[in-house]
Amino acid sequence: MFRRILVANRGEIAIRIIRACKELDIESVAVYSTADSNSMHKELADKSICIGPPIVNKSYLNISNIIGAAEVTNCDAIHPGYGFLSENPKLVEKCKETDIVFIGPPVNSINLAGNKSEAIKVMRKNKIPVIPGSIGNVTNIREALKVCKRIGYPVILKASFGGGGKGMRICNSKKELRDYLPIAISESRSAFGTEEVYLEKYIPKPRHIEFQIVADNYGNIRCLGERECSIQRRHQKLIEEAPANNLSDRTRKQMAAMAIRAAESINYKNVGTIEFLVDQEENFYFIEMNTRIQVEHPVTEMVTGMDLVKEQIKMAAGEKINNNLKNYKINGKAIEFRINAEDPDNNFSPCPGRITDYFIPGGPGVRIDTYIHSNFNISPFYDSLLAKLIIWGNDRKEAIARSKRALEEFKVEGIKTTIPFHKKILDNKNFLLGNIHTHFIEEELGV
Ligand code: ADP
Repeated sequence: MFRRILVANRGEIAIRIIRACKELDIESVAVYSTADSNSMHKELADKSICIGPPIVNKSYLNISNIIGAAEVTNCDAIHPGYGFLSENPKLVEKCKETDIVFIGPPVNSINLAGNKSEAIKVMRKNKIPVIPGSIGNVTNIREALKVCKRIGYPVILKASFGGGGKGMRICNSKKELRDYLPIAISESRSAFGTEEVYLEKYIPKPRHIEFQIVADNYGNIRCLGERECSIQRRHQKLIEEAPANNLSDRTRKQMAAMAIRAAESINYKNVGTIEFLVDQEENFYFIEMNTRIQVEHPVTEMVTGMDLVKEQIKMAAGEKINNNLKNYKINGKAIEFRINAEDPDNNFSPCPGRITDYFIPGGPGVRIDTYIHSNFNISPFYDSLLAKLIIWGNDRKEAIARSKRALEEFKVEGIKTTIPFHKKILDNKNFLLGNIHTHFIEEELGV
């Protein structure tokens, strides 16, 4: 087992990883930028080291600084969390060169999943259902028009190296395709550094359902059930649930089998997520693979009783897959609410600032993963995620009742948050019935 792990992240996920290290009796080293010198992850780790100024390119995204920090503190492994460098093949290669274990999959899995149109090609070859679309990228309008003639409108243009809900454009007609293709290509170039874009049939009102994969270094791969992430705003997840709502057992089993096949087909290791869209007839299609721990991993933990971060660490250290994973049962219902420092009444604009006071809910079935503390200054430099409120109930009805009362209890003073918006969602009849899809928020709440 590792002796000391460098946690190459900040915020709630850094604390989540530090907690897992403590429970495994492994020392943790936090890295922080000068904007985070008053941060909780720095306090909770056994050691901490400053890696640069607030701007991410000079600190949390600076590979030499991260590797240097691991070397001077004698760490034998690096956990990247999510975001930042978690899916950056260069960090994995640098780790290899310096004899530090990267807690995550091998570099070729990261490379493949990072190129979404290539990943789709591989899945298609392995008979995993994918959305009708271009085979690989489209580089010019002639090619794009030909694909759309075959699949019909509407279509969606997507950046092959896109992520975080960015780099997508819906085209309802030939004209829109002509207008948007050059824009999509130039957006991809400036946001992701490549001009590679691909086309998919646009599915009306799909559901986003993803499967958790756990794979050790010896070829054992398990699927730990699914999460429904259909409550999104601008393609970004806001609320996630496990298990999914209104999904037949037959489809659930087929999807889990396909998720395992997808992971097997690329010889996947460590934890990962296979994302699917499900249409209104319950046809499902692979859209992408995430090669890291997800923001929403706690809902899976709450219904399976597993600790995914500890499993990540143990498997990276060479342990075989946890035996309990073979016979796990899904117990009850878990829902996660992303509490962001954003103003829902002002187009969800980020609201950095000082937290003057706060109260965190508790009681049965309530888990909070956060890094906030009173008098903490939420920095404008980083992601607006403040806290994850994760609720467990014996069934969805109980989970929703608990969610309502926990959101009532939750107080954050000094800045605006998405708490009032979540309360509105919980008052919506269709949400209560589990009738949700990726356009739920715009259709039901008009934003
Ligand atoms: P990212 O990596 O940026 O998160 P994804 O490919 O995972 O991008 O897609 C994010 C979201 O965008 C999906 O959950 C869904 O809401 C929407 N989306 C993506 N592809 C399609 C499609 N072909 N049809 C309809 N919606 C789509």
